[in-house]
Amino acid sequence: MVALIDTVDGSNRPVGTQTDISKPSLIGLDRVALADRLTDLGVPERQIRMRVAQLWNRLYVGGAQTFDDMTTLSKDLRHALDSQVSLDRPEIVSEQISTDGTRKWLLRLAPGRPGEAAPEIETVYIPEEDRGTLCVSSQVGCTLTCTFCHTGTQRLVRNLTPGEIVGQILIARDRIGEWPGATRPTDGPLPNAERLITNIVLMGMGEPLFNFDNVRQAMEIAADGDGISVSKRRITLSTSGIAPMIPRCGVELGVMLAISLHAVRDDLRDVLVPINRKYPIAELLDACRAYPSLSNAKRITFEYVMLRGVNDSLADAKALVRLLAGIPAKINLIPFNPWPGAPYESSEWEQIEKFAEIINKAGYASPVRTPRGRDIMAACGQLKSASEKMHARKRRAEQVNISAMKETLR
Ligand code: SAH
Ligand code: SF4
Repeated sequence: MVALIDTVDGSNRPVGTQTDISKPSLIGLDRVALADRLTDLGVPERQIRMRVAQLWNRLYVGGAQTFDDMTTLSKDLRHALDSQVSLDRPEIVSEQISTDGTRKWLLRLAPGRPGEAAPEIETVYIPEEDRGTLCVSSQVGCTLTCTFCHTGTQRLVRNLTPGEIVGQILIARDRIGEWPGATRPTDGPLPNAERLITNIVLMGMGEPLFNFDNVRQAMEIAADGDGISVSKRRITLSTSGIAPMIPRCGVELGVMLAISLHAVRDDLRDVLVPINRKYPIAELLDACRAYPSLSNAKRITFEYVMLRGVNDSLADAKALVRLLAGIPAKINLIPFNPWPGAPYESSEWEQIEKFAEIINKAGYASPVRTPRGRDIMAACGQLKSASEKMHARKRRAEQVNISAMKETLR
């Protein structure tokens, strides 16, 4: 049995900043919008460039949580900023830490309108010896209805703003102490490395290519060399296959791509990933082939959830290899994570191994590893209403996907 520590004291009492919706947050604004804000506050034109650079540095290198922390700015400017804008991140409702160090935050966002229920999302941090991966959400819920996915049963509440996406990264850094001079927590293992968040995966709630502009702005901030500085080679966007958006993802975003393939035939993929009816496999793979600068060092990851008796035959494995021939690819076999009422079961381990052997023989390295982190909570891809109390058994079952996510990054 795993010890799950709820650092909030088990009561789900909020920790972290309370969102003040009367003052807009600077988090997630690009440099042009920051410059506009400073101009509005009366900063002279000739100072704007320098002030924006200072602010950016304090926001994304220093991790300032109050304007008082920004000692590189004049006192007057700090006061002016404090009266008009905030540095709010989403509110942390709870933080849970597994014994293997995986951390999951339940975050509450500002309600759309006063009086409306505040939507909630989840963010997961997975530390390993030499790396740390942050799994971020791009939407509240999902408009798509993949039949094996728990998130798909939740209606979309809304797209996340750039600030809410970047805010997930800042919160993770706040909590694991990845700011200069910050104290690293001792309540769970962290990577034995200088950087604690080395990789970002857009594999939380939502379809990132349906929130493209906000995801792009957020990832530009995440990758900015004068700020958070996580290289685009270490950012992976997972999509259910919105084929017409894939070229823009390659050209405008330039991050690594993961495709939730899950079936090798259109008739089956139409059922598992219904967006396939709009963008069938051939069209999807054409978009993949055209993805910029693919090479053996820069491959597309194909995710394949193993569903017992549905898509896990050895003929399927062979067809998968044929289908991906010529595309620099990694294949990631994900044992299905069950959830209450799910119409599928995970494939038998033996079957997964046989399936994997065919994939291995075709030259794809170890697509399934013995899952690590089965005993911990939090999984990207299965998130539903984050506030839902989960049964411990289900929590453990969800862990399988974490090892799959790590695999994506190899
Ligand atoms: N919407 C995007 C990204 C989020 S889902 C997408 O679909 O790609 C992240 C991954 O988890 C996807 O590959 C998804 O297919 C997978 N996933 C969803 N539900 C799952 C489940 N119950 N078991 C295993 N993997 C699942
Ligand atoms: Fe949405 Fe991805 Fe789940 Fe499909 S698998 S319902 S696209 S989150």
